[in-house]
Amino acid sequence: MNIESLIRTNIRTLKPYHSARQDFLSGILLDANENSFGSSLTVDGLSLNRYPDPYQRELRAVLAKMNSVSVENIFVGVGSDEVIDLLVRVFCEPKRDSVILLEPTYGMYRVAASIQDVQIRSCLLTNKFQIDCDAVKKAIDASTKLIFCCSPNNPTANLLRSEDILALCQLGAMVIVDEAYIDFAQVTSMGKQSLKHPNLVVLRTLSKAWGLAGIRLGYCVADPIVVSFMMKVKAPYNINVLTSRTALQALRNGEEVSRTIDSIVEERKWLSTILSAMSCIEHVFPSDANFILVRCKNATTLYEYLAAKEIIVRNRNTEPLLENCLRITVGTRQENEQLIRAMKEYCA
Ligand SMILES: *Cc1c(COP(=O)(O)O)cnc(C)c1O
Repeated sequence: MNIESLIRTNIRTLKPYHSARQDFLSGILLDANENSFGSSLTVDGLSLNRYPDPYQRELRAVLAKMNSVSVENIFVGVGSDEVIDLLVRVFCEPKRDSVILLEPTYGMYRVAASIQDVQIRSCLLTNKFQIDCDAVKKAIDASTKLIFCCSPNNPTANLLRSEDILALCQLGAMVIVDEAYIDFAQVTSMGKQSLKHPNLVVLRTLSKAWGLAGIRLGYCVADPIVVSFMMKVKAPYNINVLTSRTALQALRNGEEVSRTIDSIVEERKWLSTILSAMSCIEHVFPSDANFILVRCKNATTLYEYLAAKEIIVRNRNTEPLLENCLRITVGTRQENEQLIRAMKEYCA
């Protein structure tokens, strides 16, 4: 499969900005108009007066090792949100190309495509929240550059069948698998599959299981050609010194993260069981993520009742297939108990 032929013509021939820190990261650095006298604030002995490594070599090496791929297979962004935006900008010609979304799903795919004036073709998931492969085959044509799959899917909470995702890889477009919640599921990442399928891009983030939403770090595992074009289009210094240092430190705490994941999964099970027994809840959908989708009698009334008690959940009532559904993030036992208490009052 020729990935380069899917890339926008103007990006294929783009001459990227050449930044100073691309060539030299040490020495007597008089090349970037930085402040050689130092910075106005010192944090952990970091050289905040210097621009960061535009290639994020150290961080990408660690992420590559974790995913058993090469550095050339890793692209890091300001959250997965930047990665999503860049994928649209690298592959999709405004006004001409299209993307396929498997809805209901994460809202940023639609926003990123709309900003770029890229046509959106929405294929509904099946009533079991799985990929409707026939619908995708009908929707796809030569203008379709990206198919966004989210697994486990936000907000339905379930994993998509990997067989279906791999079947989509045969259709000629890029297949983007967003694995923001994969750490909460009992399966391994599809990241390594991108070595076999160059049109597969797997998105990961430190925002969920790693508990680092505040530092804004996401990445993808992809074919080196895809990574190289994303590198050309990104802002030269997209990942700042504080974020990369924090990420590098956090990535050493894998064991602690595993324990947190176990606790969240345990809490998810406990909360699901209790919710299932409540009279105002009609259905608790199975979850492979750190949140639970429930169908209630009247989602908006319950949502507002909880909000008045400063318990904030997400109302997904207006989305296709999600009539009267709320999405509830699994909290700590104490938070979950408060949620349950309020819901019991409401149900009574
Ligand atoms: C939370 C979430 C992300 C994370 O986005 P970041 O920009 O990395 O914080 C990505 N995809 C989905 C589906 C999400 O729900």
